[in-house]
Amino acid sequence: MNALTNAFYNVAYKYRLPFSADGVEENLSVWRQNKEPLLRLLRQHPYWNEQELAIVFDLSEQRDIDRDSVDENKFELLLLSEQIDMTQEQREDFRAALDAATEDYACVPDESRLETIRQRGKIKCAPGQKTSRIINKLCLKLGFNQYEVEKVQSVGDGTQAPTVKLIKPYNAVFARLADSLNPVVIPKTGVLSVHPCDFLEMSNQDDSWHSCHCLADGAWKGGCQSYMGDGVSMIFFTVDEDVHSDFYKAPRITREIFCYKDGLLMQSRLYPSNDADTRELYRSLIQGTIAKCLNTPNLWMTKKELNEIQGYWETAENALHYTDYENSYATLSFLKGQERYDKLLIGSPSRCLCCGDIFTEHHALKCGCESVVVCRDCGKTVRLYLAEYLDGAFYCKDCVHRCTACGDLIRGTVYPAFDRSGELVQVCRDCYTAIGEACGRCSVRCACAAFQGNRFCPHTRLFQAAA
Ligand SMILES: [Zn+2]
Ligand SMILES: [Zn+2]
Ligand SMILES: [Zn+2]
Ligand SMILES: [Zn+2]
Ligand SMILES: [Zn+2]
Repeated sequence: MNALTNAFYNVAYKYRLPFSADGVEENLSVWRQNKEPLLRLLRQHPYWNEQELAIVFDLSEQRDIDRDSVDENKFELLLLSEQIDMTQEQREDFRAALDAATEDYACVPDESRLETIRQRGKIKCAPGQKTSRIINKLCLKLGFNQYEVEKVQSVGDGTQAPTVKLIKPYNAVFARLADSLNPVVIPKTGVLSVHPCDFLEMSNQDDSWHSCHCLADGAWKGGCQSYMGDGVSMIFFTVDEDVHSDFYKAPRITREIFCYKDGLLMQSRLYPSNDADTRELYRSLIQGTIAKCLNTPNLWMTKKELNEIQGYWETAENALHYTDYENSYATLSFLKGQERYDKLLIGSPSRCLCCGDIFTEHHALKCGCESVVVCRDCGKTVRLYLAEYLDGAFYCKDCVHRCTACGDLIRGTVYPAFDRSGELVQVCRDCYTAIGEACGRCSVRCACAAFQGNRFCPHTRLFQAAA
């Protein structure tokens, strides 16, 4: 089986979806045919990954220092300083040194501040020293870390007398200020994909958020195939930095649809939150990516007013996806230097996972034909209600068996046994071993075990047959 078919089956098994080999092949052949021009374009990019059918970016983000939170945490430290025993002059010096250290809202203060910090704070500090380290020195010198307050704690269900505990508030206050003075790096990977399974998993049920395209329970889940089978849609999403392959299996941190054809780039709604700054960041990333693939200058004009841009796209007849772009979420970028811009045709009719015919219910993944599944072991197509689901996949009844003794499903070797009426049945390995031993309840143990197992024991239902 080729890798794409196998990946498609994996998704179907994960969500316990009915499907047949023909239904999947029909979906994949529509995908292959219609995505061909996009595939050809994206393959031009140096970060293209043929295995993943995607362009993969390192998108580690450095979050800048948030001035408001520095101010808030600094204010807390000043409140704490009011509680600490020192002279008026010491208090003023502390404040002046703290101000100088935080004046730049920087991880390391500008060298011009050091003189004030040394004089007023009466500490040593070398150029390049971190702001948080300087603040800690200033505070330790004045004994902030020794200061204790009483904290009343109620115990148990509240009927006992509350206890009083001494705590040192400095550590927590300082930790918050230090955090706000250090920029945070958020590592993640960005993926611009046309992989069929990235469409199916556009709302992976393992995400920390949820949308109507979720294959488990989405009201518009039939729309994943509509995006998958058209000639313009790509999925852009971010995942944890440690994911390097099979991106469709990973939870998506963010996700949005981009559509591209002949100089027109439509950006749809960003999930889970349609944050304007992040949208802008992603839009410029994808613009640059397309320009790079086309080997053309990265010059675009972007429009956002729905009534100005709505005429440049059309939703395909019988497409089942939820049209976020009709709800003022879209931006449209026009690559400069084009003479004309043709309408983007978004979506396609979705094909039944079982028979491959077009279906029309947006909350379904198939038409009204009989639900079947493909056995993972032998590849046979069997009716859904006759299949067994075990360890994340469907199996036919020839490939898994139910143990007559314990009721568990068994893959692999089964062992023969007779029931009391002499009928040959199948049991799992554990039960086979167990029924060969004495039952443990007969008063004369040896009587039960004596005759070829426990054939005469009233406590035993099954007897070993020769394996
Ligand atoms: Zn869901
Ligand atoms: Zn069907
Ligand atoms: Zn089978
Ligand atoms: Zn068993
Ligand atoms: Zn017995």
